[in-house]
Amino acid sequence: MTIDPGVAQGSTSEGSRDREAATADGVPPPAPAPDAGGPEQPAGPSATLGGERRGSPEQVALFLFITLPFVALIAAVPFAWGRGVSWLDLLLLAVFYFIGCHGITVGYHRHFTHGAFKAKRPLRIALAVAGSMAVEGPVVRWVADHRRHHKHSDAEGDPHSPWRYGETVPALAKGLWWAHVGWMFDREQTPQHKYAPDLIRDEAVRRVSRQFPLWTAVSLLLPPLIGGLATWSWQGALTAFFWGSLVRVALLHHVTWSINSICHAVGKRPFASRDRSGNVWWLAVLSCGESWHNLHHADPTCARHGVDRGQVDSSARLIRWFERAGWAYDVRWPKSSRIEARRVRPDRDSEEREGASVVSAG
Ligand SMILES: [Zn+2]
Ligand SMILES: [Zn+2]
Repeated sequence: MTIDPGVAQGSTSEGSRDREAATADGVPPPAPAPDAGGPEQPAGPSATLGGERRGSPEQVALFLFITLPFVALIAAVPFAWGRGVSWLDLLLLAVFYFIGCHGITVGYHRHFTHGAFKAKRPLRIALAVAGSMAVEGPVVRWVADHRRHHKHSDAEGDPHSPWRYGETVPALAKGLWWAHVGWMFDREQTPQHKYAPDLIRDEAVRRVSRQFPLWTAVSLLLPPLIGGLATWSWQGALTAFFWGSLVRVALLHHVTWSINSICHAVGKRPFASRDRSGNVWWLAVLSCGESWHNLHHADPTCARHGVDRGQVDSSARLIRWFERAGWAYDVRWPKSSRIEARRVRPDRDSEEREGASVVSAG
């Protein structure tokens, strides 16, 4: 994908951004880049079905997987109004929502993309599977896109910046749509061998990544199976599919995508970052703590994003439990000195009067 030079924000040169990203984001340094202008040659096994460019059948499948749940989400309100919704269906929705959401936030994002903690083998694989069940793409592709986002955040090369088209209101409206969902239809894919060589080398992760269609099927079929068996009726299976599969996937999709769109357009920016990421409090519960996005861009390898008092971050809580169980280790919990060094201080004296209030962990 290319962004027209000049329309994207930021003035740092590509070369210095590369060096900065490799050290600041905790992302493994990218593989040596091929000569400018030459195609990037993937070496070794592929971690996703399909190549670096998406073909038409894949585009159609993507379109259906995005629109069908969304239609269900829109239909959910009149549907619930007329017929009501059972406690079982609501429970299925909530349970599968938070499994997929934490699979993305704890697994795909904090563990696989940023290495905020190390995970023992069974947990690592379970996180890759749980993340796949969010139906947001195979783990290796997701990680490659997200590392590219951090490397170029809100500048040329960012796969999903809402500032892509400029800063006027119509340009931002168009950019928000692009950052929310439009970017996924870009046929050109982030080169996975360049951005996620560490994951491709891991055979188990590579396998889960290639099994993405299987985990999508499991994610969509488990709720109706449970609903059907629990009520012993086809009707129960159907409503469980509607609420537990379609509505749940649509809700999770739009909350995740809001981190790319809303959290790069609005929100408070208490920390210094070289992009426009903001902390958006009203998305904190549904996004499992990911909407403290300004802190995340200021300190990408930190295992906790909601570092200030009262900032809900269920993903950090879960990582704490994994650590206590001995499944997660080398967790990069926020250090007070590191966090305070990143805090924007227009008036240092008044800040000091209020006192620092960093939550250290769990
Ligand atoms: Zn971001
Ligand atoms: Zn990130």
